[in-house]
Amino acid sequence: MTTIRVLGAGVAGLTCAYEFARAGESVEIVERAAAPGLGCSFHAGGMISPWCEEESAEPLIIEWGREALNYWTNTVPAAAIRGTLVVAPPRDRPDLIRFARLTSHYEKLGTEKIAALEPDLAGRFDEALFYPEEGHLDPRQAMAVLGERLKQSANVSFRFNTEAEAISESADWTIDCRGFAARDELPDLRGVKGEMLVLKTDEISLARPVRMLHPRHPVYIVPRGDGRFMIGATMIENEERSRVTARSVLELLSAVYAIHPAFGEAEIVEMGCDLRPAFPDNLPRLRRIGRTLYVNGLYRHGFLLAPALARRAAAVVLHGEFFPEVMDADPCERQRA
Ligand SMILES: Cc1cc2nc3c(=O)[nH]c(=O)nc-3n(C[C@H](O)[C@H](O)[C@H](O)COP(=O)(O)OP(=O)(O)OC[C@H]3O[C@@H](n4cnc5c(N)ncnc54)[C@H](O)[C@@H]3O)c2cc1C
Repeated sequence: MTTIRVLGAGVAGLTCAYEFARAGESVEIVERAAAPGLGCSFHAGGMISPWCEEESAEPLIIEWGREALNYWTNTVPAAAIRGTLVVAPPRDRPDLIRFARLTSHYEKLGTEKIAALEPDLAGRFDEALFYPEEGHLDPRQAMAVLGERLKQSANVSFRFNTEAEAISESADWTIDCRGFAARDELPDLRGVKGEMLVLKTDEISLARPVRMLHPRHPVYIVPRGDGRFMIGATMIENEERSRVTARSVLELLSAVYAIHPAFGEAEIVEMGCDLRPAFPDNLPRLRRIGRTLYVNGLYRHGFLLAPALARRAAAVVLHGEFFPEVMDADPCERQRA
């Protein structure tokens, strides 16, 4: 049995740990926080929407995103498949046309069908795109489900409140999933700031994520149940993670108010932000240096990509496989000093 130490219990760390545990390896997860999923993963919207991502993402994201749909509904059931609704204010109709041109697996809806799908949006938009096969999950719940499953595995142990650097015992392999914190070893990693809000209101209900297109401030709403809605997310090339700015709140709230004025009366129950870990091309990487495999660069696609990336991480370590789409030939050869 190989001993595997996973650093970081975000979506990358937990999905990796799960793959190694399923293969029967001995897995130790080291996390500086007191519980899993409290890093960047805590703030994610949890949209599993590969076809909407076709608008701006590489084909790899779409292909792996389809794997994620299967993972989060069958392997670790946490997602609901109720589709995604994409709308635009009348003046931004060209954006909707452009979005339709760049994406697939959607139906065009008119006023009546929009009302049938989301009664509270009746009369608010003339046109929409509906992606029926897409899903969404609550990232905090998904992390808890995965964390519990791992805790119940006889071959898995957790060390919370522990800094990776404080551990001196060796393992056969280290899987570094520290997110943006791994920049100390991965200098080409950058942080892309994302801010989000959670609103609570009983005045409106939505069954599925709604994305509203806008040339400068696109916004999405993900229903979380119990009258709560996650509103996301800003994308700012700035590595300042400690505060949510008034401008961002203003932009997110104005956009969401344009979707439905009932959000104007909602209670703001949470504001948060973090740094999405990203490489220069915004694609994920498996970077092997000696007996450490860095699993990182999930950018804005953590829940969409982690299952597929974790599967490949296990294949690299356990079967010596090589995945050119996410591995650089160069660092694979490099041995850590
Ligand atoms: C506002 C916002 C909205 C987003 N929406 C979506 C979305 O809708 N869908 C989607 O798929 N993705 C979304 N993302 C992106 C997603 O959240 C990230 O891609 C993902 O969380 C990155 O996961 P990770 O496991 O690499 O990092 P993290 O979740 O940050 O996990 C890293 C873990 O390592 C731990 N750690 C760090 N250093 C150490 C150390 N030295 N010792 C021990 N432990 C350590 C941290 O405490 C943390 O728990 C969003 C991000 C933001 C900010």
